[in-house]
Amino acid sequence: MSLKLHDICALPLVAGALMCSNIATGQELKISPDNVLSQLPAYNGTDLELTVDNNSTRFTLWSPEARAARVNIYDNNNTPTPSQVLEMTRGANGTWTADVDRPLYGKFYTFQINFDGRWLDETPGVWAKAVGTNGHRAAIIDFAATNPEGWENDRGPVVKNINDAVIYEMHHRDFSVHPSSGIVNKGKFLALTEQDARSSLGDKTGIDHLKELGVTHVHILPSYDYNSVDEANLPSNGYNWGYDPLNYNAPEGSYSTNPADPAVRVREMKEMVKALHDAGIGVVMDVVYNHTADNDKSNFSLTAPGYYYRHRPDGSYSDASGCGNETASDRQQMQNYIVNSVKYWADEYHIDGFRFDLMAIHDTETMNRVARELKEINPSIFVYGEGWTAGDSPLPVERRALKENVARMDGIAVFSDDIRDAVKGHYTDAADRGFATGKPGNEETVKIGIVAATAHPQVDYTKGNNSKFAYASSPTQIINYVSCHDDLTLTDKLAKSLPDKSVADRQRAAKLAQTIVFTSQGTPFMFAGEEIFRDKKGVHNSYKSPDSINAINWELKKENADLFNYYRNLIALRKAHPAFRMTSARDIANNIVFDKTDAPNLISYSIKNNANGDEWKEIKVILNGADSDALVKVDKADWIVIARDGQINPDGLDTTRGGNMTVPATSALILARVK
Ligand code: CA
Repeated sequence: MSLKLHDICALPLVAGALMCSNIATGQELKISPDNVLSQLPAYNGTDLELTVDNNSTRFTLWSPEARAARVNIYDNNNTPTPSQVLEMTRGANGTWTADVDRPLYGKFYTFQINFDGRWLDETPGVWAKAVGTNGHRAAIIDFAATNPEGWENDRGPVVKNINDAVIYEMHHRDFSVHPSSGIVNKGKFLALTEQDARSSLGDKTGIDHLKELGVTHVHILPSYDYNSVDEANLPSNGYNWGYDPLNYNAPEGSYSTNPADPAVRVREMKEMVKALHDAGIGVVMDVVYNHTADNDKSNFSLTAPGYYYRHRPDGSYSDASGCGNETASDRQQMQNYIVNSVKYWADEYHIDGFRFDLMAIHDTETMNRVARELKEINPSIFVYGEGWTAGDSPLPVERRALKENVARMDGIAVFSDDIRDAVKGHYTDAADRGFATGKPGNEETVKIGIVAATAHPQVDYTKGNNSKFAYASSPTQIINYVSCHDDLTLTDKLAKSLPDKSVADRQRAAKLAQTIVFTSQGTPFMFAGEEIFRDKKGVHNSYKSPDSINAINWELKKENADLFNYYRNLIALRKAHPAFRMTSARDIANNIVFDKTDAPNLISYSIKNNANGDEWKEIKVILNGADSDALVKVDKADWIVIARDGQINPDGLDTTRGGNMTVPATSALILARVK
């Protein structure tokens, strides 16, 4: 996610109440102190804000501290005056309701509350499931009419364990907007529905490319309605990662072909999910409940001022997100909100997984509830997140959904910054090198990655660069990766850390780096386009950079066909062999045996005992990150050579009897034997 500046609360504490001012507007909201907010009644119904059927429309707003509340009904998204204003009646558990004895399909609405004696700005609420252009008004649509044909039978892939997945992280616009993509609906949800797309040089792109590569899940960057891209002015103001949430429960309008029609974005996102499911590919959504784009003007603030956020002792917004505020999952209604929101996406859109941005801003209890209730909807759904914050938080460390606390989170995985930084060099220093790029001292941390941060008798955690203890209790708690949308792409990192090397040499390092990721225990994760050596022209924080930086040029697929084929075979190898996908720490400790190696940047290990039911009795993985060839001694046996010197074939490149073998500089040697 990106860092940016927001309004800053600047007024000092006023006795008896917390004061916070939005400097831009000069408005002040008198917020109750935390101990009062924490005691407000919560409401866990799934009927909040709008329910509509053929006979009636009901509005239900949760706003326990409002003095009065109303609904403004509009005939369209733009008309300045409401056609009707409904006064709401106070209900149970902090709610307000208003009823209309007919269905209001086609209308738009906003809520408004009277708080501390004055009417706040209009808001679509926090549960708007359909919105008009730029998400300022909620819309009343018939969701059943948005379902694509065959939707009732639509299912994502069955996933027994998260580490059976191969995750491909992509941004809609990066993936399809380049003129070479051969895709008609560039930058749209529909891009992922187009069959038979070909690049200008004839290679498969779009969904056909994903199938050819063999990934099991796409992880789409934020696709809920975010704030920054002007949907009324497309495509000129066209790019943002989307880590600036506006409406959490409606799709982003700029990814639809018509943001002005609230049903179109809903239908098109479902069509995308269906097309991916039909291709056997699951959809993981990146969710950003940890902060909102605005502070006092957010939908949270305009429905229940102060409640959904954490504050500092002086009353200002605390900012563990680095984006101006942080939400308060430790408050019951915020926890209910997060849980019910992801469940809604799973139910209505058939989403197969959720990636939590800055997950450690949330508490472990909330995350455990998220995972548990999602599994009740669909056992194949999985959850992972960033086990860190971007700043300090009032939430006690022991309650945070941190990487270090993952053993206390059942069914949640965290990104391993251990393997990421150890393999390619630290993310904060572009020139820094890692294990795969010839810098010694990262061997033990790579081994931490190989065993998915579980306890292993041959891994010395005191020598870990980042983590100093085996924080995972199961390999299903770890996501392995070397790059993602944040920071330099792998291509750019290799260019900056190996400036004197040729592109061919950098691609050798890329192959080695990803071989480590895809053969390690845990779940592999890659950034879209790495397989064809996409770059971002050295821009490390491209969250609002133009397409010229972010778009994937699909002509690279021809130029880097060898690299693409390496990725494809690497993925096929992993999918064919459960030994790379063990599901318990005990199995890893029993079946993985590291060989003694004294040379720097050299790791050699075996996966033994037909691990996890594998047909291969033993797999030997030798990783040479040094700049020179390594000589290793391999047991005499009938080995199949799976990978050697930058080539890989899951069915075997060759055979060998073992003995003294050479592992060329910056490459992996993988051997397998059946008996
Ligand atoms: Ca938007």
